[in-house]
Amino acid sequence: DEETRVARLTRLGYLADLLADVVQAHPKDFVIERATEMIQKSGIEQPLETLVDHMAKRLVDLAEELDIRVGAQPSLGEVMVEAQNAMLQLAQQQEEQTSALEAQLRAKEEETRVLEESNRRLMHMASKDTLTELDNRRMFNRALQSALEDAVKQFSPASILIVDVDHFKRVNDTYGHPAGDAVLRALARRMEGALRTVDKVARLGGEEFGVLLPNSTPAGGRMVAERIRMAIEASPVPTDEGPVPCTVSIGGTTFDPDRVPRTRDELIKQADQALYLAKNTGRNKVCWYGQKS
Ligand code: GH3
Ligand code: MG
Ligand code: MG
Repeated sequence: DEETRVARLTRLGYLADLLADVVQAHPKDFVIERATEMIQKSGIEQPLETLVDHMAKRLVDLAEELDIRVGAQPSLGEVMVEAQNAMLQLAQQQEEQTSALEAQLRAKEEETRVLEESNRRLMHMASKDTLTELDNRRMFNRALQSALEDAVKQFSPASILIVDVDHFKRVNDTYGHPAGDAVLRALARRMEGALRTVDKVARLGGEEFGVLLPNSTPAGGRMVAERIRMAIEASPVPTDEGPVPCTVSIGGTTFDPDRVPRTRDELIKQADQALYLAKNTGRNKVCWYGQKS
């Protein structure tokens, strides 16, 4: 009847449209699928391939009749090859995008690594003395502060020493500044060697070093100081300019948590006073804060 005739014509019109799309559209997967479906629904016997090839021929014939030049029309095979090429191109574009993104990611990771590394170097620079590789004054002050807090918590004494190289100006004047540097590095190693693992030595500046001795009484602190003094006096430091005999003077003091609460700076001042006494009473010796001579 009229209604099914209209429905059938509509379907054929749609199918014709789809067939045109099979030839023209990009990408083609979807239209090929839809066209195949419509062919089945419309009860057409010929497969899509035949229809497209037929359509191509008919188009050329029709165009000829109308005196229009359309050139050769593609077969379904050619259409499929074109579709495949388009898909390949798309896949290649995606691959290129992916590798570009991966390259960006790697660049970012490298940037992060460089930042972390320079951060680590900055931290090192802020806490270490570059000549001797010992902690610097800033770190010594920090360590001293927390050692004093621990001493109060644990009701235990802590001692500090200030070690100053005797007549170091003469070392520079006699052997040259580079030899002086080598001496400072060697003395740093000798001091480390004379200490327990809980103790800390830092370069406070110039030829002056600070030593922190947790859990250390005046008697214990003096013993460590003597050990340092003797380790340095024991043998000259070998340098490129020959062996350089060295001695140090040491001032020490003890933090007693039971007595007057004392600050970090006061403690350093006391050790300095003791050092001053050692320098003024002959050098190459240990003096303790509070001792008379
Ligand atoms: P004193 O026994 O009284 O301590 O005499 P001194 O000569 O050791 O003391 P002074 O403070 O007069 O001189 C310290 C010298 O240390 C002067 C300075 O050039 C030298 N000095 C400081 N820092 C360095 C360094 O990093 N390398 C070298 N080679 N010398 C340094
Ligand atoms: Mg000195
Ligand atoms: Mg000095």
